[in-house]
Amino acid sequence: MTWRVRFWLFKVVPRWSPISAKQKEFFHWPIVTEEDEQAVLEVLRADTMSDDSITKQFEAEYARYNGRKFALSYPNGTLALQVALWAAGLREGDEMICLSVTYWVSAMPAITLGASVVFADCEANYLCIDPGDIERHIGPRTKAILVVHYCGHPVDMDRIQPIADKHGLTVIEDVSHAHGTLYQGRMTGTFGRVAAMSMMAGKSFPIGEGGMLISDDPDIIQNALAFAHYRRHNELTRADLKPFAEIPLGGIKGRLNQMCSAMGRVQLKYYPQRITAIQDAINRFWDFLEGDPGLCPHRPDPESGSTMGGWYSPLGHYVPEELGGLPVEKFAAAVQAEGSVSSPGCNSPLHLHPVFNDAVIYQHGGQPTCIAHSDRDVRQGPGSLPVSEQVMQRTLHIPYFKHDWPEQVAQHAAAYRKVARQAGKLL
Ligand SMILES: *Cc1c(COP(=O)(O)O)cnc(C)c1O
Repeated sequence: MTWRVRFWLFKVVPRWSPISAKQKEFFHWPIVTEEDEQAVLEVLRADTMSDDSITKQFEAEYARYNGRKFALSYPNGTLALQVALWAAGLREGDEMICLSVTYWVSAMPAITLGASVVFADCEANYLCIDPGDIERHIGPRTKAILVVHYCGHPVDMDRIQPIADKHGLTVIEDVSHAHGTLYQGRMTGTFGRVAAMSMMAGKSFPIGEGGMLISDDPDIIQNALAFAHYRRHNELTRADLKPFAEIPLGGIKGRLNQMCSAMGRVQLKYYPQRITAIQDAINRFWDFLEGDPGLCPHRPDPESGSTMGGWYSPLGHYVPEELGGLPVEKFAAAVQAEGSVSSPGCNSPLHLHPVFNDAVIYQHGGQPTCIAHSDRDVRQGPGSLPVSEQVMQRTLHIPYFKHDWPEQVAQHAAAYRKVARQAGKLL
């Protein structure tokens, strides 16, 4: 490269500096080291992408990390969840209760299986399913409650299981935001009959693209193998499933690429220490802002033994009443102008989306697919879930620090503090 070219690069990339490189590292995810690269290269060079020896090691290690007997991997979390629902017995015409403010994958696999989804409201502090709003949605065909540990926050599991027991329902956990999150000292993903989680590159446990299903129940694993793991049908032991060996019942191929399994094994080694750094940094951010108006942390009481795991997509509660009614969009824009990171809202409520109201996907006599097999119209219009419908105006995304660098955390928190204390001027 000549000096001219170098000079030109320097001119057009003025933001290159040790400071912005450091800022980039502060937020960069996943953390990939030579160890990940080496592990992936070995698979690539040995041409074992479609084998399963490394995948089985990864599954065993992931099951051990979670304290579950079994783990089965998938190419993504969407498929892991669909298989989990089928393996737990969700069928055409059944109903599943689910959080409305979540990513679409929590709910759509039930629709794919011909079931209907009835949405429950979220609890305003935890932003997970409100245990007090479940029972009014239960009908004769309700089979399951799907709980999402939303944005890393554990669901209040002590209040979920009694409701499930009383009505004979199966609890299924979507742990895609909460790998490593503890609820009262116990790992999320170990409460339901089965749990599934995404491992795509942006999630707190990242393997590139992938998903996992974990359970202690051998029947769940047998069903899951039969549904989408045809090359592993030699692992089928159940007499009712064996006759179908070699062809997956779901018509689905669920094999994970071993390059992802290899990365997953390396990621798992460092995961506990990496999420400790994230928790320390975000707790530090919130401790800095304690007493300032307008914002409250979305995190459990530290005394409870509950944690936020990898704190995926960290949120704050936005309290406009304390800031003269300043809309969250204006607050977030002002924080950005101060050089920090902020964006308004969280997932929009699924119960109001046209796919869960009007979409005719499979042409069942022209019936909207979301109720095509149900014996009642479970669609829920505006006003039906008041907390879910307001939460977009009452939440904002805070910086997702990946390292506990106290000085830098304080700089970001100071930007938030400045905006919160001067909110009156922004009105
Ligand atoms: C990301 C995600 C999934 C599944 O994700 P994939 O992208 O298919 O791996 C499932 N549930 C929730 C809540 C998610 O955020």
